[in-house]
Amino acid sequence: MTDSVHVVGGGLAGSEAAYVLAQRGLRVVLYEMRPRKMTPAHVSDRMAELVCSNSLGSTARTSAKGLLQAELRAAGSLIMQAADAARVPAGGALAVDREVFSSLVTERVQEHPLITIERVEVTGVPAKRPLVLATGPLTGEALATDLREKLGEPFLSFYDAAAPVILGESINMDVCYRAGRYDQEADYINCPLTEEEYRTFHRAVAAARNHTPHDWEKLEFFEGCMPIEELARRGYQTPLYGPLKPVGLLDPRSGERPFAVVQLRREDREGRMWSLVGFQTGLKWGDQKQIVRLIPGLEQAEIVRYGVMHRNTYLNAPRVLDERLELKALPGVFVAGVLSGVEGYLESAATGWLAALQAAALAKGLPSPEPPPVQSMLGGLVRFLANATPRDFQPMNANWGLVPPPGEKMPKRERRAAMFSRGIEAFKSWLGGLEP
Ligand SMILES: Cc1cc2nc3c(=O)[nH]c(=O)nc-3n(C[C@H](O)[C@H](O)[C@H](O)COP(=O)(O)OP(=O)(O)OC[C@H]3O[C@@H](n4cnc5c(N)ncnc54)[C@H](O)[C@@H]3O)c2cc1C
Repeated sequence: MTDSVHVVGGGLAGSEAAYVLAQRGLRVVLYEMRPRKMTPAHVSDRMAELVCSNSLGSTARTSAKGLLQAELRAAGSLIMQAADAARVPAGGALAVDREVFSSLVTERVQEHPLITIERVEVTGVPAKRPLVLATGPLTGEALATDLREKLGEPFLSFYDAAAPVILGESINMDVCYRAGRYDQEADYINCPLTEEEYRTFHRAVAAARNHTPHDWEKLEFFEGCMPIEELARRGYQTPLYGPLKPVGLLDPRSGERPFAVVQLRREDREGRMWSLVGFQTGLKWGDQKQIVRLIPGLEQAEIVRYGVMHRNTYLNAPRVLDERLELKALPGVFVAGVLSGVEGYLESAATGWLAALQAAALAKGLPSPEPPPVQSMLGGLVRFLANATPRDFQPMNANWGLVPPPGEKMPKRERRAAMFSRGIEAFKSWLGGLEP
């Protein structure tokens, strides 16, 4: 037992974590390297600075982000309190005045009698336990190197080269078929293209617009990790020898080999989310959507995570973390925010809140709380982190593929509304059973 916990990183996740711990009566030392050492994206010394958009997503009672917001509000989250107080009109989205938002978070953290802020760069994983690591996508290099050495080479990534992920229920299985190359296990979903369909697809990909990265985000691409648009621009045939190669993928219905095939690989054990194999891309999101929907069987595809290619620091969560966000190799070290394998402001705050709950229980010698229920968005997110397919693991944001669908069939809007109500009720009842 101990009366203090150390938190590294004063961003969305770390600020939330420090506040939860202090509210539970623990002394907190919060390490933040800014302004002594800035990241390439932050511009201030404030806690919880929003580095890009000022939106925390849709508030709709049919939206996955909306459910996560509701859960965080119910949990008394500092980030949600500041977001609600700094809110600006933005239709159905929760958008904030970024300066008011981060000033409020800074004030609450700085003025808390149990929180001490140390403005230093942490260069190795501190020995103190419990510890919350929340250093984000731009984790200082020395700390990242130390973490990598402690966990093993392939378990920490320094960039994100992700393909779009789509909701399984939006795939048209009348068009697509299950098969593995050369009759291996039929683990993949295959979308067949005729020559004409391939030509249209190729033209669209080659002409699509790239997202413009900041200078420091630019990456040198390895041949094995080339974005799909780059392959298409190299020539008409190039993708046919790469990710769209049809060899060994006979359509069981016709017994014939399609001209080209797009393969989908499952992202989660239940098969609720599927990613496009070899489709890592840095295209603008609008263009990604149009291109994905040109693929036969994906005309109605719902993209739950767009492809990105940028600098990022994150763990291979299913290999190194458990459902309590604790590092299996370093007991007592809890990881939160983008470093833990989530993506987005809300998701970072939510994992910060949960990591702190676990760290607080450990510090007080209490039993470790069960993870939030599977029906809740936070429960779905942490289960995904711990149980996703470790191969090519990519960070994940709140989306409806993370929670089980309701038993009965109903139209999409009603289904989402039912999942929202079910999720928040389950979360509140779980909250009610937690130790204060
Ligand atoms: C350029 C860019 C744009 C983004 N745009 C969006 C967006 O529009 N919407 C969205 O939802 N998400 C966006 N993200 C993802 C975003 O970073 C996260 O959603 C959120 O900020 C992550 O919260 P975090 O707490 O994990 O990390 P951060 O908020 O980055 O906090 C980490 C903190 O740790 C500190 N730190 C790092 N290393 C050390 C160290 N060694 N010692 C001490 N302190 C350290 C950093 O200074 C920082 O304050 C973007 C990310 C980047 C890089």
